[in-house]
Amino acid sequence: MRIIDTHCDALYKLQMAQRGKYYDIELLNFKNSSQLDTNVERLEAGQVMVQFFAIFIEPDVSFDEKWQHALEQVNLFYTEILGKNRHIKHLKKWSDLNDLQDGEIGAVLTLEGADAFGNDVMKLQTLYRLGVLSVGLTWNNANLCADGIGETRGGGLTSLGKKVVELNNRNQVFTDVSHLSVNGFWDVIELADYLIASHSNVRAICDHPRNLYDDQVEAMFVKSGLIQLVFYPPFIKKGSDTASITDLIKHIDHLCSLGGVENIGFGSDFDGISDYVTDLENASKYPNLINELLKFYSEDEVKGFAYRNFLNKIRSITFSSCD
Ligand SMILES: [Zn+2]
Repeated sequence: MRIIDTHCDALYKLQMAQRGKYYDIELLNFKNSSQLDTNVERLEAGQVMVQFFAIFIEPDVSFDEKWQHALEQVNLFYTEILGKNRHIKHLKKWSDLNDLQDGEIGAVLTLEGADAFGNDVMKLQTLYRLGVLSVGLTWNNANLCADGIGETRGGGLTSLGKKVVELNNRNQVFTDVSHLSVNGFWDVIELADYLIASHSNVRAICDHPRNLYDDQVEAMFVKSGLIQLVFYPPFIKKGSDTASITDLIKHIDHLCSLGGVENIGFGSDFDGISDYVTDLENASKYPNLINELLKFYSEDEVKGFAYRNFLNKIRSITFSSCD
């Protein structure tokens, strides 16, 4: 079954390998490096039709260097992922999905944290032009747009943060609430036209700050936002660095009980995590999740989770731009 996965950190790993930090240069092979959870061979084996690639900058990078880091990751996206794999197609705008052929994999560029552009909106405009189609305002810490969920102050959006959401709306770009503070979340709910939690689970099943409370989940569904499940065990099972596919499905059951059967999908966080769900250790393992889901949900529903809910959302965006 085809898959759309709305979050991975392969670009960050590629950049670190290129810089000789944490990883060796062998990793810089997107075709089949075993050090990448998401590589071409694994995407193909998992039947992934669209993979999102986040630009993520470590919080300890100095303010002066953050833009440089962002550009290095964009460059690696163009050279290592698109440039060396002709059947991986860059989706620069949502309507490009319509041109995706069988056997091709769509690649979407996203931003995880406004730190990359500081207070320079022209840099954000540049990222849109380079193909960024989803913007998360924060990682866990605070920046000039908002507080992340790890920031004890717990502030909402700044004026700049609100301006960024407006720009996202104008450019048909998702505003991503994963990692955002609770107050920031409610500001985004008010303002954003295109809502996604690209990699988050639910607190009712696993009470972790990175997960969403039920009232947040319901607000997302009311506004036709998408909640994409993340495969990191500490976000699946409280206090645990291991989890099973059955544990993950408990989050899906809960989201469906809140009316989300047409509003959920997957955002694995592959290459951004160090612990894994058993039998779901990299992109090639997606069929294990699908087969397990088919025991409890209809084929139609599972197709929804796997790719169709996301496609329906995109259809509503591209249709609304025509009228
Ligand atoms: Zn993340």
